[in-house]
Amino acid sequence: MAVTTPSLRVPTRAERLAWLRQEDESALEALWTEADNLRAARVGDAVHLRGLIELSNHCARLCGYCGINAGNQDVSRYRMSDDEILACAHKAVAFGYGTVVLQGGEDWGLGTGRVTDLVRRITAETALAVTLSLGERHDRELVAWKAAGADRYLLRFETSDPALYARIHPSTDGRVSDRPAFLRRLRDLGYEVGSGVMVGIPGQTWDVLADDLELMRSLDLDMIGIGPWLPHPATMLVKDGWEFTAPAGEQVPNNELMTLKMVALARLMCPDANIPSTTALATINQADGREHGLQRGANIVMPNLTPVAYRAKYEIYPGKACITESAEDCDACIKGRITRIGRTVGAGRGDSPNQLKRNRAGTTP
Ligand code: SAH
Repeated sequence: MAVTTPSLRVPTRAERLAWLRQEDESALEALWTEADNLRAARVGDAVHLRGLIELSNHCARLCGYCGINAGNQDVSRYRMSDDEILACAHKAVAFGYGTVVLQGGEDWGLGTGRVTDLVRRITAETALAVTLSLGERHDRELVAWKAAGADRYLLRFETSDPALYARIHPSTDGRVSDRPAFLRRLRDLGYEVGSGVMVGIPGQTWDVLADDLELMRSLDLDMIGIGPWLPHPATMLVKDGWEFTAPAGEQVPNNELMTLKMVALARLMCPDANIPSTTALATINQADGREHGLQRGANIVMPNLTPVAYRAKYEIYPGKACITESAEDCDACIKGRITRIGRTVGAGRGDSPNQLKRNRAGTTP
């Protein structure tokens, strides 16, 4: 069967808004098909796996959405040891993954030197690409970790609306939080840059989502993570959330359909980006949310490698998928889901096509 040539025209703001507001499933088929064709043509059928290690749930921040925020006294805090983290990295190798993602709260107890040593050990003992997702750390740390061998950094900008962002993400220590600037700096340092948003945050409007997509494109992101906002009872958005909801008719819902529209539009805006089918999407539709993401633009999954004893303590939102499963369970489950929809499991590091182009053009230091 002939493959339809995907349109390379980037949707205008008006077109993005029309798709975002579209509720008719049969009309949306055209969006799903275009996103899936573009995914196949630009990043292929292989689904790359990034092993997620949730290495610490200590956090200095008071993010209004996140269950492990510093104000939540009910969280039992943990920080994994180097040997535990290395054991997870070796599991990633055994499962055939090309990348590990070290993610945690903004944990200043996890010092510059400790992360530097971890990156060195992982890159010395394995051929894995190393992604860091440790919050808004100091510039000198980003420099040191890149020099130690870190390849990528993930930090979602969460929303492109500065007023909404300021409400859900209070600054600390008088440091202004400017995530788009942070992401541009990461790019200058030579990292592959991942970012993304939550969908359906109280106060988030359709116009804001249309602008989020433009910001993703202008940042030329290598990876774009999109998931629904899931209310956690121990957060400011749930305790005081009613104050923030946008006027009737303007508030974006935090459901699966809305998230899938954003995933598909992100593919149209950033055709070469790596786009994960996220755990939050798998959480709101445990039956087949993961597959829906992969069939509407996504090409990445991040199986959880965190030891079972720590998983439930990394409760950024309630009911998180895979919370009681072992790394082996997650590995088998995700590989089964990928092959059952006719896709293949990716081999190698799964570097971003954008970054490979930048390297060839000599624009990366
Ligand atoms: N401390 C790191 C990692 C945070 S967890 C950082 O700030 O980058 C990774 C992502 O999970 C966040 O960026 C956010 O988009 C998402 N997240 C956190 N709480 C959530 C919630 N309640 N619902 C949905 N997604 C959430």
